Amino acid sequence: MAEQAIAGRTRELLARHGLVLKKSLGQHFLTDPHILNKMIDAAELGSDAGVLEIGPGVGALTERLAEEAGSVAAVELDARLVPVLKELFLSSPHVHIIHGDAMKLDLGQVIHTCLGDTSRRSVVANLPYYATSPILMRLLEERLPLDRIVVMIQKEVAQRLMARPGTKDYGALTVAARYYAETEWVTRVPGHVFIPRPQVDSAVIRFHIRKQPAVEVADERLFFRVVRAAFGQRRKTLLNALAANLSEGKRKKEVNEWILEAGIDPKRRGETLTLEEFAGLADVLDRKAR
Ligand code: SAM
Repeated sequence: MAEQAIAGRTRELLARHGLVLKKSLGQHFLTDPHILNKMIDAAELGSDAGVLEIGPGVGALTERLAEEAGSVAAVELDARLVPVLKELFLSSPHVHIIHGDAMKLDLGQVIHTCLGDTSRRSVVANLPYYATSPILMRLLEERLPLDRIVVMIQKEVAQRLMARPGTKDYGALTVAARYYAETEWVTRVPGHVFIPRPQVDSAVIRFHIRKQPAVEVADERLFFRVVRAAFGQRRKTLLNALAANLSEGKRKKEVNEWILEAGIDPKRRGETLTLEEFAGLADVLDRKAR
């Protein structure tokens, strides 16, 4: 379908069902077929592929997924959109429309129930802006049976995901994403291809989920505590940030020794540490705690 046709169909569906879009739910609907195709290509689907879509809206992406994948499970929070979607996919039994909150639903169960007949699974979604990071972190942390994730997100979040150590965009989200997946930039998406037009630009990112995390750590929770502590006060040195956020009353001298034992200069800022350095530091702390 051409861009004008998708835009026309979206407006017609909204008018026919008397729907006013809710900004609070991140409702900006995509109308550009080239961007839809780029997302479909990045997902590398096929009849053996099952797709979990979060936030189908009025189904522009869902329709393309239905054409290319073996099964689709689409989770939509807005109850008003559910009958619209059910009507659109009435004669597509491989498309399952689920009313629910992607931040609360048992997504493992959704995958098991709706995509159980497929041999590889991915998430393909145009995520609502307000919930991008928590949804992404859920998808990664819960170790769902997924091979890849192709998502459209706010450009600034995409830049954070792709950032290198020592840059202003590098943060706890970058480290977490890289721990679980390899991230790849697919394309930038300008604001004018949505109804209504958002204030920000977007980008499509592809995650290849790792079979094993990028670094081996003795205690994963401690690893993420160290990461959060290091980024908690970005302007401080690593020594001061860890002493303030992680040392539980230990003296600075002791924290300094931990950092030196991990082979890191305590005067560096936390935001310059690589994934491997964070892992080494977390393992020193783990040994000290035993
Ligand atoms: N997929 C459509 C498209 O590309 O045009 C719509 C994408 S729109 C950016 C985000 C969609 O996510 C909206 O339909 C919104 O109602 C839905 N949504 C918002 N929060 C959600 C949540 N917590 N769980 C599931 N869907 C949600």
